[in-house]
Amino acid sequence: MASASIPRAVVIGSGFGGLALAIRLQASGIPTTLLEQRDKPGGRAYVYQDAGFTFDAGPTVITAPGCLEELYALAGERLADHVDLLPVMPFYRLFWEDGQTFDYSNDMDAIVRQIGAMNPADVDGYRRFLAYAEQVFDEGYTKLAHVPFLDIWSMVKAAPQLVRLEAYRTVYDIVARYIQHPHLRETFSFHSLLVGGNPFATSSIYTLIHVLERTWGVTFPRGGTGALVRALVALFERLGGTLRLSTPVDRILVEGGRVTGVRAAGGEVFPATAVASNADVVHTYKHLLGHEPRGASVAASLERKRFSMSLFLIYFGTKRRHPHLAHHNVIFGPRYRELLGDIFDRGTLADDFSLYLHAPTVSDPTLAPDGCEAFYVLSPVPHLGKGAIDWTTEGPRYADRILDYLEARYIPHLREDLVTQRIFTPLDFQHELNAHHGSAFSLEPVLTQSAWFRVHNRDDRLPGLYFVGAGTHPGAGVPGVVNSAKATAGLMIEDLGGRRA
Ligand SMILES: Cc1cc2nc3c(=O)[nH]c(=O)nc-3n(C[C@H](O)[C@H](O)[C@H](O)COP(=O)(O)OP(=O)(O)OC[C@H]3O[C@@H](n4cnc5c(N)ncnc54)[C@H](O)[C@@H]3O)c2cc1C
Repeated sequence: MASASIPRAVVIGSGFGGLALAIRLQASGIPTTLLEQRDKPGGRAYVYQDAGFTFDAGPTVITAPGCLEELYALAGERLADHVDLLPVMPFYRLFWEDGQTFDYSNDMDAIVRQIGAMNPADVDGYRRFLAYAEQVFDEGYTKLAHVPFLDIWSMVKAAPQLVRLEAYRTVYDIVARYIQHPHLRETFSFHSLLVGGNPFATSSIYTLIHVLERTWGVTFPRGGTGALVRALVALFERLGGTLRLSTPVDRILVEGGRVTGVRAAGGEVFPATAVASNADVVHTYKHLLGHEPRGASVAASLERKRFSMSLFLIYFGTKRRHPHLAHHNVIFGPRYRELLGDIFDRGTLADDFSLYLHAPTVSDPTLAPDGCEAFYVLSPVPHLGKGAIDWTTEGPRYADRILDYLEARYIPHLREDLVTQRIFTPLDFQHELNAHHGSAFSLEPVLTQSAWFRVHNRDDRLPGLYFVGAGTHPGAGVPGVVNSAKATAGLMIEDLGGRRA
């Protein structure tokens, strides 16, 4: 049992959300232990090292550095002294099969010029879209991203603004209202996919991502996203926190109607006054708390919710550089709405695909041996609860199809230049990350699953249980989960009597 006089916290999972929360708790004087099941920290931001190549497994578009800077400020330090965030320009290079391209960034002149070349009438529409998205950003990000929605009244209070901004409309609806050209509609609506949302179903609130990126730019940590993770771990440890890797939690302990700690798979018990889970929300309620009526009942209701898509990834290295590619490349296939319908609604693996191609060596050549290029390519695919796809047999076939397509259109000589490759399928999201249905981004970010409707940062009934990360408010994405940590930390510090920043 934890001594009643010294509140202690345990955080389950070292994703960006778990790390940010652990730093905030430790900085407020609450001794915190971070337990991670894998052999490296970072969660979806894991790192593979193969044949001299460094592959960031997940997040690569790092924006809104302010939320990371705040973590260092808590320790009286500066982010810039520990992590070198390299500006990425353009933010994304978009490609279509008809040969058109678009360099997307916050350079207004360049954006306007490219829109004008595709469809002059859309220049004015873009300016009006931007004015709309800026209002959404003020409401949805600046005011609400770090606020916990614990009761229905917090939702009711936000409702008039949400109605005024037509948050009940989808991202695509709003973009299509202002912009006509099909390629430009894709250009300004694909962003919700970065946090697991189908632009045809996700609330128009997610148009704020456009403004987020315009305001703070897109950056990439020198050494890769893994370097940022390592820096946050070092910050947590400098503050006196403890990280235990290769320590899967198998049970959240409850005594006398409140949480008293966790048990690791080997049987070791970690007593705590408060436990925050950064693990998947269904996994937490169903498997870690399934022995309690509260766990079983919440898990059952969560399982009825909509989950975001999964992803299929190939991490590969080539012995040649490819100067026509940008750091972040988005490759649109022939279909948009229909393909997203296959992924989100019908659960079928389509013959065509739209891809995100990450080429980090464009910004940081040290991530590959001299003259070589590190890549990952990502294809959004149905989650395991939607599609009856056997990834053990389909995975290698699907990888071949994607590599053939890339070689035919974007990376000449790909096959002969390949030095290394590995795949990560929806089954890996399920087995390695305990992700429900192998979802890459947890609960789908539709309006009816956002804010108060999402898993609360503090459990409503079980004292001592908290949540942080993609399944909670405000949702997935690095800025999202780091903001969720701020919301959760505020509650925990108040409940545990820690020092306020
Ligand atoms: C391929 C990919 C690309 C992405 N690209 C971007 C991007 O460019 N920019 C961006 O902002 N976002 C991006 N995202 C989204 C972003 O990465 C995630 O939303 C975010 O990192 C999730 O963080 P999290 O705090 O929810 O924790 P997660 O990263 O989900 O980590 C949870 C941790 O909990 C651990 N865990 C689970 N169960 C247990 C247990 N029982 N015991 C102990 N530990 C446990 C897991 O091992 C994991 O380490 C991407 C996501 C993916 C998958």
